[in-house]
Amino acid sequence: MQGHLFHEKVHKMEREKRRDLIRVRGLRISSARLGLSGQTDLVEFHRAEIPRICTSGQTGSSSGDSAVEGKEKSYPRGLRQLSAVKLPGVTGFWRVFPVEYKRGRPKRGNADKVQLCAQAMCLEEMLETHVSGGALFYGASHRRLEVAFDSALRTETENVARAIHQMVSSGSTPPPDAGPKCRRCSLIDLCMPQQFDHRRRKIYIDRIFSDD
Ligand code: SF4
Repeated sequence: MQGHLFHEKVHKMEREKRRDLIRVRGLRISSARLGLSGQTDLVEFHRAEIPRICTSGQTGSSSGDSAVEGKEKSYPRGLRQLSAVKLPGVTGFWRVFPVEYKRGRPKRGNADKVQLCAQAMCLEEMLETHVSGGALFYGASHRRLEVAFDSALRTETENVARAIHQMVSSGSTPPPDAGPKCRRCSLIDLCMPQQFDHRRRKIYIDRIFSDD
């Protein structure tokens, strides 16, 4: 059902088509399993040969694809998925490849890769396919970094999703971890890391000068 709705959505959305590539922007995606939803910057559909059945330990790439190589487990673990999907209004099979745009440069840590992998896992659930890789495009360096959705990244993504839900149910957020990265963060107006530091400093000073 979810896959059917998704296909309709792709059909209605403005899309850019070349011979072996379709680009769709701003797709709304979600995963009931991860409890996540959002919107993609760009999903590329690369023309593929007859889809392969992916099982644990295989990539979803077929011959002729600009493959992101590497061993990985399909999603959900152990379930067999096709490596490419059919799309409405076009012939053939298409491999799903999410692309996320970032204004800055690659960050230390895996945050961008986890975000992209979460998108891939949403797309897998909605399209009932296997997504083996995607790409991060960094505006500052004009570099496109290909990312393989291997089992380690998938596990990290699941753990992050679980931690987010635990944080939401606990009703508290961790304190801001202010640093140079904040200058490029889209959440800075909500997070206000510098103000938090001022508040923390004030609490500290108040405690020092309190009567007890
Ligand atoms: S502004 Fe807040 S959320 Fe963004 S990087 Fe800084 S501490 Fe993290």
